[in-house]
Amino acid sequence: MCSGRVDLGFVLRAFSKGIDGVFLGACHLGECNYITHGNYQALNMVYLFKKIMEHIGLNPERVRINFMSGAEANVFTESVNDFVRKVKEIGPLGKGEGIDKDELKSRLEEVGKLIPYFKMMNRQKLVSRLANHEECERLFTKDEIDRQFSEVVSYYIDPAKCQACMTCARRCPVEAVISAKNQVHVIDQDKCIKCGTCLEACPPRFGAVTKIIGEPAPAPLPEDQRAIVRKTKEKEVA
Ligand code: SF4
Ligand code: SF4
Repeated sequence: MCSGRVDLGFVLRAFSKGIDGVFLGACHLGECNYITHGNYQALNMVYLFKKIMEHIGLNPERVRINFMSGAEANVFTESVNDFVRKVKEIGPLGKGEGIDKDELKSRLEEVGKLIPYFKMMNRQKLVSRLANHEECERLFTKDEIDRQFSEVVSYYIDPAKCQACMTCARRCPVEAVISAKNQVHVIDQDKCIKCGTCLEACPPRFGAVTKIIGEPAPAPLPEDQRAIVRKTKEKEVA
């Protein structure tokens, strides 16, 4: 697989399955066969993932990227051997950091839900092509990633304002809006990738979508209480 195809989510999944270390072997920078230069993206992704690991208390040296051509079997062997040595030195995932199994599982699950958010927040940096490793290493700072963790956004549909026009449901790229005719719409927080499209799409006269920063969205209305009262009908009754 081209290193540019390796997604943050793939690396996270490996750790979630209990793998102690993830090694990426990529083509030399500047030698990608494609105009996309995916190996730069892989490098940026690895540095972002290292900062995420630091935030959740895991040793960032558990993930590594090295560059080599298809003709450099010796470089591949030496790189992998050195990486394996390093990971053995750190110890098993979680145990090496003094994190118990349940706590580790819950931290990784939490990060798993935020992968689309991190990709979106850092999308410009993730595709940047910097001059050298030193610059790449400085691409993401710990403070910046810590801040992104503390300012995670959620989107919430205010049941008192939603008029079930279905615009947000049609525009949501991942079908995270639970939509039914004449029913208050609800965002499935586990599916939502926090792109903000529903906030932009909700007609200003309704203004039903709210962006919440740094705290979870309120619980959704129970299904049997989602029938809406049209604003126009409310006025007629008054
Ligand atoms: S923020 Fe994006 S993904 Fe989440 S519900 Fe709104 S449109 Fe869908
Ligand atoms: S766009 Fe706004 S009013 Fe329309 S269904 Fe979505 S949240 Fe409700």
